[in-house]
This record gives sequence, C-alpha cells and structure tokens, in this order.
Amino acid sequence: MNLAVVGGGPAGLMAAEAAAGAGARVTLFEAMPTPGRKLLRAGVGGLNLTRDASAEACLALCSHPERLRPFLAAFGPAEVRAWADGLGADTFVGSSGKVFPRAMKAAPLLRAWLARLADLGVEIRARRRWAGWHGDALAFDGPEGPETFAADATVLALGGPSWPRLGGNGDWAAALGGVALAPWRPANCGFDVAWSETFRARFAGTPVPTATFRFGDRALRGNATVTAHGVEGGAVYALAAALRDAIAAEGSAVLTLDLAPDRTETDIARALARPRGARSFATHLRRAGFEGVRAALAREAVPGFDALAPAAQARALKALPLRLAAPRPLAEAISAAGGVAWSAVDERLMLRARPGVFVAGEMLDWEAPTGGYLITACLATGRAAGFAAARQPSGQLAPASEVH
Ligand SMILES: Cc1cc2nc3c(=O)[nH]c(=O)nc-3n(C[C@H](O)[C@H](O)[C@H](O)COP(=O)(O)OP(=O)(O)OC[C@H]3O[C@@H](n4cnc5c(N)ncnc54)[C@H](O)[C@@H]3O)c2cc1C
Repeated sequence: MNLAVVGGGPAGLMAAEAAAGAGARVTLFEAMPTPGRKLLRAGVGGLNLTRDASAEACLALCSHPERLRPFLAAFGPAEVRAWADGLGADTFVGSSGKVFPRAMKAAPLLRAWLARLADLGVEIRARRRWAGWHGDALAFDGPEGPETFAADATVLALGGPSWPRLGGNGDWAAALGGVALAPWRPANCGFDVAWSETFRARFAGTPVPTATFRFGDRALRGNATVTAHGVEGGAVYALAAALRDAIAAEGSAVLTLDLAPDRTETDIARALARPRGARSFATHLRRAGFEGVRAALAREAVPGFDALAPAAQARALKALPLRLAAPRPLAEAISAAGGVAWSAVDERLMLRARPGVFVAGEMLDWEAPTGGYLITACLATGRAAGFAAARQPSGQLAPASEVH
C-alpha cells in the first residue's frame, strides 16, 4: 500500500503516523520548506495541546459534534496527552484544565515526532504544493516544476486559510474540484470597533484587566486586548463564533463587558457618588477604582458618560456595551470555520466523490474555540483518516468497524 499524505500539520503528521503504523508505505508532501509551521506558531503561546477533560466535554465546544464524536472517542484528550508524553513532551495541566508540554513550546515535540515518523519509514517531500490530479495521480508544483505521484490512497490534511504565511491558504479548494465546501469564515478572531482616533492612539495594544464578557446567554471571565482596529484576545475568541454569526445576520453585535467583576454595582455607585470637589472627573473615576484603559473604555463606549448620574455610571461600568462592526479578516484569525462539507465525506472521512481520498483536520467544516480543542480534533481526525486510508485499497471500502 503506497499512501500519500498531503499537508504536514498536526492532522497530516498524525495521519502519516497512523498509516505507517498500520503498515502502509507513506510519503508526506508539504508545500513549505519544513512541516508543522502552524504547530510551531501555536507553540509561541505555550502549545495548548488538549484539555484535562473528557472527549464529551471537548465535543460540547466543537461545532458538528455528532460527526467529530467517533474520532474523539477513539483519540480524545487523554489519548492526546499520552501520545505527547510518549514523544517526551512531559505534559502538565495548567490553568482551567489546559494541557501544555512542559517546555511550553512546540519545537521539541515536533522534532521527536518527525524522528518517530522517520523510524516508521515515512518519507517527507517538502516544497511540494498540491495542485490537483493528473489522471489518477496527485499533481504537485515542486521545486523543479510539475511532479506527479501515484498513490493507492491519499489523505489530504491541508488546513484552513488563516495565517497563510505559515503555509495553508485554502488554495486546495480549486484543486479539489466538485467537492462541496462550506464558505470560510474567521474563527477565534478579533473584531473591529469604531474607536475614536484619540482612544486608538493612546490604547492600541493595551490589555484590558480581567473582565466578564457577555454575549447572548454566555458570560465568561477573561482577558482581551485593545487593538488599533478593535479588540482581540482569549475572551473575545471564546465568543467569536456567536459574535461573527450575529454580525453576519444583523450587521453588528454588542459585546457587554463587566469592567469590575469583583465589585457590586451598588458599591461602585457609592464610590462614584462621593463628593468630587475640585477634582477632575478622571481623578474622581480613578479614586472610584477606574483608571487607564478601563476608565477610557467607559468614556469611549458610553456617550456622555461623564455627565451621567453615579448609579447610571455604575450600571455602565458593570455592563459596558461595545459595538463590534465586523470580524477581522481570515488571514489574522487563529483558525477558520468552513471547508470540506460533512456531506462530502463518509463516516471514515473519505470523499464520496473520490474513493480512496480522505480528508482530515482544519480543512473539514468544523470549528472550536482555542484552548486545545483545535489540535485535539485535528489529531483525532488525522489519525482516523490515516488508519482508514491504510486499510483502503483504492476503490474498496473497509468495514467501518476496522477504522478505530
Ligand atoms: C497563532 C496560532 C496559535 C494557535 N494556538 C493553538 C493552541 O494553542 N491550541 C490549539 O489547539 N490550536 C492552536 N492553533 C490552531 C492550530 O494550530 C490549528 O488548528 C492546526 O494547526 C490545524 O492543523 P491542520 O493539520 O489541520 O492544518 P495546518 O496546521 O494548517 O497544516 C496544514 C499543512 O498543509 C500545508 N499545505 C497547505 N496547502 C497545501 C498544498 N496545496 N500543498 C501542500 N501542502 C499544503 C501547509 O503548509 C501546512 O503545513 C493556533 C493557531 C495559530 C495561527
């Protein structure tokens, strides 16, 4: 069995490991000079590999949980952690159940992984950008021009179009031909806010102290950063899918911030009602506990904030309405929603229109918040696709029971 894996991110590398482990001769093609660039970039934030949680708890935060369930049931957070430890990552559980390698970066894990793949006989051919098919063979743009490769089965793991400088730009959509695709949308992204020039000049790049962020029926305590365009950061990313969809439906969305989650409205109103004397309003606000970006946000987001009664000011500080105009572009997003439609693949991730060709990772139409869910589901789908492809002589279906 001569198996091609195209795309050297977490999904493709795991597909290669699974297929080679199942006895296939695996050749992995990667467009960039080296594989795993997005994984390495994820390592800059510590490489949140997975969660200290059940597969079901992870699925609750993923879109299309019913389609992802079998893959996470076979290779969920516990298996991801054991696998990473097996590569010497020595994982630990950080804040809120996030699992990281002790080195807090991806390079050592990636190095160990590539060494394991080499031991399994996986050949990596870098600088090959997949361009579609030439007859039944895979067609690539290689360093010396067009190349073809005849495979008995193929796993495509080409990622989404976020952060295109890391290799994936979604160009494979055209190469795939008539396969149904859900439109790309930014996920885990920042948003545009129409800041005044004064606010933007002074606060772009400033972190907002811990606040509670609310949208719809969700509220979470976390952090965000003011950017030149608007806001970004963990708490915003966690609510991003709902915010993005609301903006698409209604033109804008209002994210509500409780700027003082540990104080009551009454306590804040009492502090603001103290006689101001000759002090400036900024000093008065500071003495009530609001200074810097928090005070500026209130004055920016609530017209006439300074002239409001203390009770109304306190109400605004506990529920500051931030109008978001648009998600930031896909190229800036941590991940992408959209991609190969679930209707286009069978339960083993094989393209219905192309028997013997499997799809895995972020190029499939699902999304999840940051926090380890993305890498976990990429590894799980990559593993399932690799196993299924290795047991899949071209055109003949293996029983589903053999897949996991
Ligand atoms: C800044 C940042 C931080 C992140 N942090 C985390 C985190 O902490 N935890 C987490 O779970 N997730 C995180 N993610 C998301 C995670 O990295 C991705 O979800 C994951 O890498 C997707 O894996 P993949 O294998 O599907 O695709 P990718 O990692 O994108 O890999 C796809 C590969 O295919 C190659 N390729 C693309 N097109 C072609 C082509 N036509 N021919 C040949 N090769 C091609 C690309 O060069 C790339 O190497 C982060 C992402 C970013 C951008």
